[in-house]
Amino acid sequence: MAPGCLNHGVLSDLHVHLRPDEEGTPAGEYLTTANADRYRAAATERGIDELGVSEHVYRFTQSLDVWQHELWLETAHDDLDAYCSFVREQTDLRLGIEADFIPGREERMRDLVDERDFDYVIGSIHFLGDHALDYDRFDVWTTGESADRVWRRYFEWLGEAAMSGIFDVLAHPDLVKHWGRERPWPERDPRYYYEIAMEGIAESGIAVELSTAGLRKPVGELYPARAFLEMVVDAGNPIALSSDAHTPEQLGFAYDQALELLTDLGVSELCRFDRRTRQLAPIGPA
Ligand SMILES: [Zn+2]
Ligand SMILES: [Zn+2]
Repeated sequence: MAPGCLNHGVLSDLHVHLRPDEEGTPAGEYLTTANADRYRAAATERGIDELGVSEHVYRFTQSLDVWQHELWLETAHDDLDAYCSFVREQTDLRLGIEADFIPGREERMRDLVDERDFDYVIGSIHFLGDHALDYDRFDVWTTGESADRVWRRYFEWLGEAAMSGIFDVLAHPDLVKHWGRERPWPERDPRYYYEIAMEGIAESGIAVELSTAGLRKPVGELYPARAFLEMVVDAGNPIALSSDAHTPEQLGFAYDQALELLTDLGVSELCRFDRRTRQLAPIGPA
C-alpha cells in the first residue's frame, strides 16, 4: 500500500455498473462513450470526482473458466478484455471489476483478475454454494437452513475472502441481510457474526466498502450496519465509499447518510486506487 495523501479532498464512487443487471442490456448499448459520459456528468454534478466502474465478472465469458453456475452460463456473453480496453482507452473512468468469492476457485479467480490491469478488484459474496443471497431465483432461504447457519457461513466466507488476497475492497459486507425481516433473521446479536469475519478483515488490512445500495433494497439500511463499520474502523481498515449504482441517477445515492455515519465514526479519509495501489485521501469534495 502506498499511503500517499492528496492535498485535496476526494469523494468517490468506485462500485458502479454501466448497465442494469437485467438481461437485454448488451455491451454494445451500455459500454459506450456516450453512456460513460452520462455517468461522468452525473458524478460531477454530485461532487464525485473519483469515479470508477466495476462490471460483474459473470457478464464476461472468461468467468466460465472460474465457475459455471446457471446464472453465469446465462449472463456471460461479453469479452472481458474488450471491457478493459474500452474503459482504459475510451473513458476517463477508473477500471475496476466486481468479482465473486467462490471457495475452491480462488486460484482461477486470482488468475483472471491478475492477468489484467485493473485499478481495483471488488470482492463480493453473492452466493453461498449454488444459492443466492440477493436474488430470489436461487434464493438461499429456500434451502431450509437456519438463519444462524446461513449468517455464520456468510461471515466465515467474508473473512476468507478478505484473507484470499484476490480483492482490494470487500463489497456490501453484510449482504446476507439483503431481504431484511422478510426472511429468517438470527436471534443472536449480529455482532456475534461480524466477529467471525473480523479476524480475517483486520489481518488482511483490506479496504471495506460502505455502500448506500442497501438503502434501495428490502432491508433499507446501509451496507454494512453501523456496528460492523465500528469494528472495521477500530481494526484500522480503510473505507471505500460507493453507491453500487446501476444507472447514472443512482451515483452518489444517499451519500448524505453515508457521510454522516463516517463523520460519526471519526472516519476522515477514503480510498482511491490506481493499478492496484491504494491511496487514502481526505473526504472531499475536491
Ligand atoms: Zn454485488
Ligand atoms: Zn455491484
